Amino acid sequence: MKRVYNFSAGPAVLPEEVLQQAANEMLCYQDTGQSVMEMSHRSAEYEAIIRSAEDILREIMGVPANYKVLFLQGGASLQFSMVPLNLMGGKTADYVVTGEFANKAAKEATKFGHVNRVASSEDQNFSYIPSFEVDKDAAYLHITTNNTIYGTRWTDIPDVSVPLVADMSSDILSRVYDVEKFGLIYAGAQKNLGAAGVTVVIIREDLIGHAPPDIPAMLDYAVHAKAGSLYNTPSTYAVYIVKLVCEWIRAQGGVTAIQTRNEAKAKLLYDYLDQSSMFNGTATPKDRSIMNVTFVTQSKELDAKFTSEAAKHGFINLKGHRAVGGMRASIYNAMPYSGVEELVQFMRRFEDENQNAK
Ligand SMILES: *Cc1c(COP(=O)(O)O)cnc(C)c1O
Repeated sequence: MKRVYNFSAGPAVLPEEVLQQAANEMLCYQDTGQSVMEMSHRSAEYEAIIRSAEDILREIMGVPANYKVLFLQGGASLQFSMVPLNLMGGKTADYVVTGEFANKAAKEATKFGHVNRVASSEDQNFSYIPSFEVDKDAAYLHITTNNTIYGTRWTDIPDVSVPLVADMSSDILSRVYDVEKFGLIYAGAQKNLGAAGVTVVIIREDLIGHAPPDIPAMLDYAVHAKAGSLYNTPSTYAVYIVKLVCEWIRAQGGVTAIQTRNEAKAKLLYDYLDQSSMFNGTATPKDRSIMNVTFVTQSKELDAKFTSEAAKHGFINLKGHRAVGGMRASIYNAMPYSGVEELVQFMRRFEDENQNAK
């Protein structure tokens, strides 16, 4: 078996230890005689798994007691609708538009009430995080902490007087966040938390229960909070993988240790890009993501040659999103330091060998 280095933006690389443990437990989870996939979501065995996923996530992320942790379905994209539906309450909602997902979130919210796009970085193809002013009467301010497609992030989380709602799909558990700064955090699992199919929502309790009375039950945070994410059948296996990933993070020394390693990985790649005469980073340096590193050469042909040769050498999914072009190396928590090290070695060699193509 030869595993590649997978730089996919999502679904993405998972820790090998997690995959190995899932494989070991595939036919028989602990002493239950069954696979997690076969368990009733109402069984004591499964109840223990989902509560443990929640407990460990709370522990490693430092989620205060007055927040609920929910395991929902529908991806981060369903949260683009659930957030305004549950939180707008007839008021205006403020959005900072820093990329395609932020834009989609804002657009979806307009179906439920008045949206104020308080800032956008579209003027420079979302290569930076804009400054903004929040309306003190807004129901909430929505930000996307890490912009997966454009390779930018909010290096500092703003202090605002209204509830701060954050799409953390591509950087949850990659760095230490003070959960108390947020009213609501959501993240699809398929980037840093596990397998596709489950979305984590962390919501401050006072924000629950303000949905309109005619809201569909499945879209109401109050319904899921009351039922401990077991109102209907959750994505049982995906929640189990979240549990394994959280255990893995804890075993690595927690989010602090993960952050140190992520910063070292990103620095290695950015340092190389900054001195390269072939590859250039596309994001404004102060707003650079440590999860998704976007870069280009001077020509589309050379970009294509690079991604294709990289794939042949076991570095896959380096093609950038069509909105940016070029390349994107997604280096989530599970990407080992050695993966970035070997990628940089490969880039250096490619640059040497293609001097005349520049
Ligand atoms: C991937 C991603 C999404 C979309 O997630 P789905 O689970 O496919 O709905 C939304 N926001 C961000 C920041 C993402 O990276």
